[in-house]
Amino acid sequence: MAIETLNFIGGEFVPAASGRLFDNRSPVDNSLISRVHEAGQAEVDAAVAAARAALHGPWGSMSVQNRADMLYAVAEEINLRFDDFLQAEVADTGKPRSLASHLDIPRGAANFKVFADTVKSAGAEFFEMSTPDGGTALNYVLRRPKGVIAVVCPWNLPLLLMTWKVAPAIACGNTVVVKPSEETPSTATLLGEVMNKVGVPAGVYNVVHGFGPDSAGEFLTKHAGVNAITFTGETGTGAKILETAASGIKATSMELGGKNPSIVFADCDLENALEVTSRAVFANCGQVCLGTERVYVERPLFDEFVQRFGEIARTTKPGHPDDANGKMGPLISLGHREKVLSYYTRAKEEGAMIVAGGGIPVMPAELAEGAWIEPTVWTGLPESSAVVREEIFGPCCHIAPFDTEEEVVALANDTRYGLAAAVHTRNLQRAHRIAAQLEVGTCWINAWFLRDLRTPFGGAKMSGIGREGGLHSLEFYTELRNVCVKL
Ligand code: NAD
Repeated sequence: MAIETLNFIGGEFVPAASGRLFDNRSPVDNSLISRVHEAGQAEVDAAVAAARAALHGPWGSMSVQNRADMLYAVAEEINLRFDDFLQAEVADTGKPRSLASHLDIPRGAANFKVFADTVKSAGAEFFEMSTPDGGTALNYVLRRPKGVIAVVCPWNLPLLLMTWKVAPAIACGNTVVVKPSEETPSTATLLGEVMNKVGVPAGVYNVVHGFGPDSAGEFLTKHAGVNAITFTGETGTGAKILETAASGIKATSMELGGKNPSIVFADCDLENALEVTSRAVFANCGQVCLGTERVYVERPLFDEFVQRFGEIARTTKPGHPDDANGKMGPLISLGHREKVLSYYTRAKEEGAMIVAGGGIPVMPAELAEGAWIEPTVWTGLPESSAVVREEIFGPCCHIAPFDTEEEVVALANDTRYGLAAAVHTRNLQRAHRIAAQLEVGTCWINAWFLRDLRTPFGGAKMSGIGREGGLHSLEFYTELRNVCVKL
């Protein structure tokens, strides 16, 4: 019998009252991982009520130091149960065990430590003023939790991106209701066990499973008992959630899609540029919001770069998560593969030169039902092509030549998105000059995915609203109250 994945509400694992369950299938071979209990309106109501009640329980009066200690304990417990989290994340996503064990799980645990440190050391404003009667008044700011936070998450880095929001939210004294992606329900559920184990009061952390429209996602984001919504996912979904949030005047933080450029100048360290850009394109099977899908290479280097990048793509072999030679997992689902393949077909129809890949790889019989895809590299498409303009979210990129700095800045910025960019050059003056002109939330120079969690993270244009990270997270997860004291 298949394992069942339950909702986690008020410290208890709760089945769906409706009896509605859906399949969680492995992207590696389409086998059944678990049957997931879909939360209806009743479960979402219960989760929001539990979160609201917890605000008025011991959690609401706990000192910052005690809350921080609890977050440290959560981080420690995740590390103690590292293998369980690793197993669950690898099963849901199909990503290489080596990737999940050095990225997803440790960074998921680290989020709790980092935001415990942040909340302990954060100060607030203070102003002294003169009063009309010749006296003095003091203004100081108190940080207060916003209340019940809805956390709606994607499937590409399930534990990491969920804890990136849950950790600062609860560090600030809020309570949360998490809606993990329907594709990856397991680690969020497992975290419920951790919360209970370390004594986080019931109702502080809740999980409801299901889909978006007419399911848990919509019920949660529309809920009158939710004070703020933090969302990571597609730009179109973000727009729908913003409409709902508007009627309830709910604070929102939106981390959305991208079509990120990498710019490679002829004076770059070529070995580094190739290594970094290939990670930016192929890591996590191209399913990273910060990943590169557009590469611009200065003309003198173009042919050599394309030839060597194509070789890297051809040696980036997909494989089972436990296969040490497999450099890439499958896409998240057969449905997502249809979407990615539609761009592969389009590129071909529009006359792209296919440098590498372009289809479905031949896999061993036991993996044949999985969502496998070839790493793919194109050149020769016009900038107006949907393949160059739309987010594909697969292991693929288009490489185009450029001649001048002005031209490449214009090309990089000619998109509705603005999440991230990477620039490769040895000319530091140029690097700073370009970084200042790119319309993005994050710009890497000679690097990609280097993340200091104290820095602001978010997107420009249609890649998001707001910034999280370090003190920026505290800005979102707290309400600032000014207290003015007449002396
Ligand atoms: P998605 O928008 O399809 O789903 C995200 C979550 O929203 C899921 O939990 C889903 O069930 C829920 N949802 C869907 N419709 C909803 C609705 N109407 N109301 C409420 N909830 C709803 O995104 P995805 O496919 O899971 O993730 C991939 C996308 O996420 C890509 O576009 C990627 O760029 C983006 N992403 C962005 C960042 C970032 O930091 N900017 C990070 C990771 C992923």
